[in-house]
Amino acid sequence: MTYQSLKNIDKIIIHCSDSTWGSADEIRKWHLARGFDDVGYHLIIQNGHPQGSTEFSEAHDGLLQPGRPLNVQGAHCRAGGGNSNSIGICMIGKTEFTDKQWNTLWEVVNTYRHQFLISNMAIYGHRDLDSHKTCPNFDVQEWFQGKIGARTINSLNGRILGPI
Ligand SMILES: [Zn+2]
Repeated sequence: MTYQSLKNIDKIIIHCSDSTWGSADEIRKWHLARGFDDVGYHLIIQNGHPQGSTEFSEAHDGLLQPGRPLNVQGAHCRAGGGNSNSIGICMIGKTEFTDKQWNTLWEVVNTYRHQFLISNMAIYGHRDLDSHKTCPNFDVQEWFQGKIGARTINSLNGRILGPI
């Protein structure tokens, strides 16, 4: 396990799970099966389908879950030194994300951007650092500028499951 100093965190990298469903626990299983120490991302934003069943769960729509602790280096972007000094966030989904997921992403990116004084230009999509990837299947800077995705919920209160 490689630790990272929180005071050196200087970028946020956004991913998608490339699956129609999932949760921190599920991705942890997928990543352990690939030989990782733990789930590769620091944060996971659910889409209302934590399991492979088709049933939609309102309580899981936009739900933020902790993955790796922030002081442990992630395993989410090998290219461009992406894993070091970064926070890796995974949106569950392939190309479609829910309004609540967009809202949670906005809240969490802004929370950590301010906490760690991360530059606006250091908010990346995986594909911005690895040209072989399409992940997260949207343009993160366009999203950050408000051109893509919903922004209506102003508080994450009660929506964080467990400590981050
Ligand atoms: Zn990715």
